Amino acid sequence: MHAIRLTRAGARLQDAELPDPIPGPGEVAIDVAYAGICHSDAHYRAGAGRTRLPITLGHEVAGFIAEAGEGVDLWPGDRVAVHYLISCGECGECRRGGEQFCSRGAMIGKDRDGGYAQRIVVPARNAVRVPEEVPLEQAAIMMCSTATAFHALRLSGLRQGESLAILGFGGLGVSAVQLAGMLDVSEIFAVDRVQEKLALAAGFGTMPVDASRGDIGEALLQSTSGRGVDVILEFTGNAAVCRSALNALAPGGRLMIVAIDLRSLTIDPYRDLLARERRIIGCSDHTRSELVELLDLARRGEIDLSHAVTRSVQLKAEAVDAVLDELESGTAELRTVIEVSPAPPADEEPAPE
Ligand SMILES: [Zn+2]
Ligand SMILES: [Zn+2]
Repeated sequence: MHAIRLTRAGARLQDAELPDPIPGPGEVAIDVAYAGICHSDAHYRAGAGRTRLPITLGHEVAGFIAEAGEGVDLWPGDRVAVHYLISCGECGECRRGGEQFCSRGAMIGKDRDGGYAQRIVVPARNAVRVPEEVPLEQAAIMMCSTATAFHALRLSGLRQGESLAILGFGGLGVSAVQLAGMLDVSEIFAVDRVQEKLALAAGFGTMPVDASRGDIGEALLQSTSGRGVDVILEFTGNAAVCRSALNALAPGGRLMIVAIDLRSLTIDPYRDLLARERRIIGCSDHTRSELVELLDLARRGEIDLSHAVTRSVQLKAEAVDAVLDELESGTAELRTVIEVSPAPPADEEPAPE
């Protein structure tokens, strides 16, 4: 099979021909239909985040079951998307519901081979059924950006009537707008410095805030009659943007740290937190049950991610590298997916329901 490999940190990706992976007991092989290209992959390529090498990147994956190992309740042709966190299900953290913190956990596309390939093998538990109503390219990106936004909003406790500011309007931002819309929030502000993205954000019904024009905190305060916003989702990884936005957090407000590249933030605990009972909350990944919930929201048409995937490229190292370069330098695209094999395998009819 064809796969795109990272062999050395900081190097370009490479095209490779590998043997088809074979599922063991309790595992499935999936013919990849689409794989999302994520900003995190740019970090892994650059050498941040202790990625196992060599590796096939790609953690936003959807496709068709090609082969199921012993004892698996999935059939060739079934439409599935991949939950990228592998957890043991037995340790203390797993049992308390925080599978992201599993002591034996691993991430598909970082610790083991991911979906920048024609075929992938994963534990059957990590293959989540995709309802017929949900296109596979949307299911693929829901496995990361939408799910991460969903998890962050859930942790934030955002309620009806509250206001939300999204710092950095990309794949996560689009998903956050859709999800927050279900909660009937009072106002959503989208902060970015790329004009095309601000225009897009306005098209989604948000109030755009141009980060290239002066102080973001000031702009947010002015737009809320000085009260500030209730919840901020930090997707930029930019300390100056985050710091400025923190000044515009309402009493009782929550700053949700989601971007993995925000590594320093200077705060005054009294002025910034205590005096206004603000909270800064870290958000890590999401859970399998949240993915099932999200796919059901999409099936019912409660969220619509048809505008989140703005481009597709072929399964070629050069093409994927170019997208990762763009993600590093800033891009007007929302989400790019690799189109691998979008149609179900011809000789493998879906099993009857
Ligand atoms: Zn991702
Ligand atoms: Zn565990």
